[in-house]
Parts: sequence; structure tokens; C-alpha cells
Amino acid sequence: MKETPANKSIFRFLQERLPGYFLVDEPLSRHTWYRIGGPADFLVYPKDEDSLIDLCVLCKRLDVNTYVIGKGANLLASDRGFEGVALNLERSFRCICREGESLRVGAGLTLEELILWCERNQLGGLEGLSGIPATLGGALCMNAGAGASEIGNVVNEVKLIDAQLQPRAVDAERIGFGYRAAPGLQETIILECRMNLHSEHEEVLRDARLARITERASKQPLEFPSCGSVFKRPKEGYAGQLIEKAGLKGLRHGNAMISDKHAGFIVNLGGAPAADVLFLIRKIQQTVSTLFGVPLEPEVKLVGFD
Ligand SMILES: Cc1cc2nc3c(=O)[nH]c(=O)nc-3n(C[C@H](O)[C@H](O)[C@H](O)COP(=O)(O)OP(=O)(O)OC[C@H]3O[C@@H](n4cnc5c(N)ncnc54)[C@H](O)[C@@H]3O)c2cc1C
Repeated sequence: MKETPANKSIFRFLQERLPGYFLVDEPLSRHTWYRIGGPADFLVYPKDEDSLIDLCVLCKRLDVNTYVIGKGANLLASDRGFEGVALNLERSFRCICREGESLRVGAGLTLEELILWCERNQLGGLEGLSGIPATLGGALCMNAGAGASEIGNVVNEVKLIDAQLQPRAVDAERIGFGYRAAPGLQETIILECRMNLHSEHEEVLRDARLARITERASKQPLEFPSCGSVFKRPKEGYAGQLIEKAGLKGLRHGNAMISDKHAGFIVNLGGAPAADVLFLIRKIQQTVSTLFGVPLEPEVKLVGFD
């Protein structure tokens, strides 16, 4: 971390308001599924909404960047790291409040925790998302999904802090959920979500969850760190199939490799820097564009790159 006046002010704020809730120069490799990424100046686990808003107001005034990270399952963080304040809601934003078949859930809960809670409480609607590593906030921001199941399908309303740092609630219709997209949630901090589920037997939910997890393990290279599918599905077919047709499956650059099990994944074989993964991303985009005229759009989010 650079010893700038802005960073000193942030440090003082954190010591006063959030002692024990922040880390300095924290390697993002410890917080991304890829196990890649240099240090964030600060990694903060806000205690509540007020401290979160006050911190964001201070950062805005000091012109310091903020970035929310969830499980880091869809992030490629640069080797240089992130200059600014990374925020993580997993410690304090964890409510689950049931109102009939409707739930109010904190953004810091993981999908796995939520799906298991729903199973025990006989509520269906999320089991199709089993096996997707995510916090609820990250899942909403990405409209995470598999096949016909997308988290946006069950969302009623999202409570967030908007770009002007005002807390407000936004209806699902105004979010405009689409394939791996939630336009109304970008540039916001998602705090919690209200979702509508339905009654379902526990065994039915458990069977569905286990079937999804087994299917994933058979198709995906889960033995290596990754970010899941690197690219969104283009309208011309599946990214993985195009990459395989281009002859790139199994291509290695340094310690990053286009998976030989699922060509839509780029895996970290161990100690790969972000630059190796980025090289393969660009290589795939160029090759697939040249051979098939298909522009592949990354699903993975880049953090700390210019
Ligand atoms: C093995 C593997 C399999 C995967 N399979 C799938 C799959 O089948 N389907 C799928 O959709 N995805 C899949 N993914 C990708 C990933 O799991 C999803 O994108 C997931 O939603 C990321 O959640 P996260 O909490 O890790 O978010 P992160 O990766 O930490 O962040 C993703 C984005 O969400 C934003 N964000 C996170 N929390 C908040 C918040 N509270 N408020 C505002 N913005 C926030 C971040 O700023 C970032 O822009 C897979 C990943 C892996 C590693």
C-alpha cells in the first residue's frame, strides 16, 4: 500500500470504526477461486450498513476505488493487485428471514449455505444452482445459473446501496435480469434480496442438489482452481465447443491451461500468474474470431487491470 494521505485517512477510519474487521495489503490470491491476485490495499468486512456507507462516502471523497468481492469465483485479479478498498460482506450480511414462502436473505451468505437451509426448510427454487460457488451478492450481480435455472427467476426485490451511495430497494423487473446479466445491479453494493420460493419435499430437493453436483464433477475440471466458464455462451453455440473445434483444448501457457476436460475453463495448474490466464483468454478470442467470426465475450471479471 502506498503511504498516501488518502490511505492514511482510510486507515484511521478503519481503526476507529471497524477494528478487527479489515486487513491491509491482503493478497487477493487468498480470496479468489483462481488463487491468483496481488494485494488489495485494504480488504474490509463491514460490520453493518452504516459503517459500509460511511466507508464508501469517505472513499468517494478521497477518490479511492472500491470493489466488492464475494467468493471470488468469477474474478481474475491482476498480479499487481488492487489499489483501493476491497469489500466483502460475508461476515455480517448473513440474515435469513422467512415470511411464508418468501425469504429475505443477506448478500454475504453463500449459495451453498442458502440451498442447504432451503432444503432443511422444504423450500424449492434454488436447487438447480447447486454446485455454483458464490455468495448471494455475487450470484445476483452475475445472474448466476445453470441450464434453465437462474437466480433472477426467483428474485422479487433487491436491497442495495446505489451509485450515489443511497440505500434503496429495486424490483426484479427494474433489474432486467438476462443471461449472466443484471444491468440494474451494476455499480451497486447488494445488501440483501427478497425471493419467492415454493414448498417442496426435502428428499426431492436433496436428490436434485446431489444430481447437479455429480453432473458438474463429471464435466468440469474441479480438481484445479478456475473461474468456471471463462466466456459467456455466444448465440452461435457453446464457447467450449468452439474452443475445442479451434484446436485449443489442452493448450498450456506457463502454469495456466485451457482445460483438457472442458475447453470453456482455463485452469491454474499451480502458481500461475494472472498474466498467463489473460494470455490464454486473448489467444482464444483471437483464434475463435479468426476461424469462426465469433466474438467471445468474457464472463470472468477482471480486477486491478488498467
Ligand atoms: C468451478 C466453477 C464453476 C462455476 N459454474 C458456474 C455456473 O454453472 N453458472 C454460473 O453462472 N457461474 C458459474 N461460475 C462462476 C461463479 O461461480 C459465479 O459467477 C458466481 O455468481 C460468482 O459469485 P461470487 O460471490 O464468487 O462473486 P465474485 O466472483 O466475487 O464477483 C463477481 C461479480 O459480482 C460482484 N459482486 C459480488 N458481491 C457483490 C455484492 N454484494 N454487491 C455487488 N456486487 C457484488 C463483484 O464485484 C464482481 O463484479 C463457476 C465458477 C467456478 C469457479
